[in-house]
Amino acid sequence: MPNIIICGGSLAGMACAIRLKQLGYDPVIFDKSRFPRKKLCGEFLGPDAFPLLQILGVFESVKAHAYGPVEKTLFYNQKGQALTIHHRWIHRQWPYALAIPRETLDNLLIRHAQDLGLQCHEQCRITAAIRLRNAKFVVEVLREEADLTRPKEQAEAEILVDATGRNGNLFLQAHPPPKAQGNHRVGIQCHVRFNEKLPQKDLAMFLFPGGYGGIQPISSQTANLCMMLDASLAKSMHDPFRDFITATIGQNPAASHYLTNTSRDGDFSTTANINLPLANQLQKRKHPDDAALIRVGDALVTVDPFTGSGMAHALETGMLAAEIIHTGLQNKQDYRIIQAQYQQAYRRRFQARLHFMNRFRPLLESTQLQNLAWPLLPPLMPLLAHVLR
Ligand SMILES: Cc1cc2nc3c(=O)[nH]c(=O)nc-3n(C[C@H](O)[C@H](O)[C@H](O)COP(=O)(O)OP(=O)(O)OC[C@H]3O[C@@H](n4cnc5c(N)ncnc54)[C@H](O)[C@@H]3O)c2cc1C
Repeated sequence: MPNIIICGGSLAGMACAIRLKQLGYDPVIFDKSRFPRKKLCGEFLGPDAFPLLQILGVFESVKAHAYGPVEKTLFYNQKGQALTIHHRWIHRQWPYALAIPRETLDNLLIRHAQDLGLQCHEQCRITAAIRLRNAKFVVEVLREEADLTRPKEQAEAEILVDATGRNGNLFLQAHPPPKAQGNHRVGIQCHVRFNEKLPQKDLAMFLFPGGYGGIQPISSQTANLCMMLDASLAKSMHDPFRDFITATIGQNPAASHYLTNTSRDGDFSTTANINLPLANQLQKRKHPDDAALIRVGDALVTVDPFTGSGMAHALETGMLAAEIIHTGLQNKQDYRIIQAQYQQAYRRRFQARLHFMNRFRPLLESTQLQNLAWPLLPPLMPLLAHVLR
């Protein structure tokens, strides 16, 4: 049986690993973190992820640990006017979404993989990947608690999958990552506590000058607050919490009303430099040699968080890669052919959707476009919700 190494053991990596196990393989997974670990996320799990989690065999336990049902998203423009998206428009079988902390979701997946007998090496950072002449890959593994004077460990594989996420930067050779261009955005997340019981479980999304943010209830009195902001605005991130809210999401009148009587519950998590590649830049943003890696989830494409479908995309790409690897190995195909077939299948399944999502980005930023579009959008929402997912 060929050796398969998966770098990164979050959603995309685990979906790929578990699906490969179901198809008869024993991939080895390395992740630099020890699970459970905190991860910045909106913590909104859309219904498009449910059939995938069901195939992976974890849907029932995810549901048992989640808060919900989340029946709709209220999308507020900068003036505080709402558009409603009913989640029954996205998936008929599951007319609701769920809210779940990422540390819980990722931990459920990795423990399920271990129960299936998969080797998941935690706190093991992949520091380099090399392709040998005989077409095998060698990866260098640095155990987080290892004695740094000892040589790094190495592992070999015929198939290498990069699931290291948006900032993973796994390269075949040591190419410096290309300089990010454009408007730099950062992600900020924290949990907030409400003084009163929350009346509903719905996701509320708020647009404001310089960014957007979502508030997703995760219990009857707490919610997850997650924002994408211009880097310059993020500099205002300081206590008191109220001042930070006023400078950011609180610029939206509906959010400022919603967030009165709240306090921060725990630390902020932040992530730097969220530059969303356009769909037509797929695979072009890294060195040409590196484009030849099978990349899944955010390591391939970062889906704009406003769609709430990044987690489903990560799961789906991981599973798609597993199925294409299986077919390729059965047909005794070379890694490069398998990689090319995966890329083709990815484009067929996702590219139109990603292009369509990109068309909506200007709407997130321009007040004038929002003023024009908001009155026109309600009758189109069922169709848009369906197509965007
Ligand atoms: C602000 C924001 C809010 C979001 N909110 C939502 C939401 O509400 N709903 C939704 O569906 N999606 C949301 N997303 C998108 C979602 O978080 C991502 O699409 C998803 O996490 C991608 O999963 P992944 O497995 O591809 O990568 P990641 O989750 O980033 O996982 C990568 C893994 O690789 C490991 N790793 C990295 N480098 C190495 C290395 N060198 N060696 C070993 N391991 C390594 C990391 O430890 C990590 O576990 C949001 C994204 C952002 C930025």
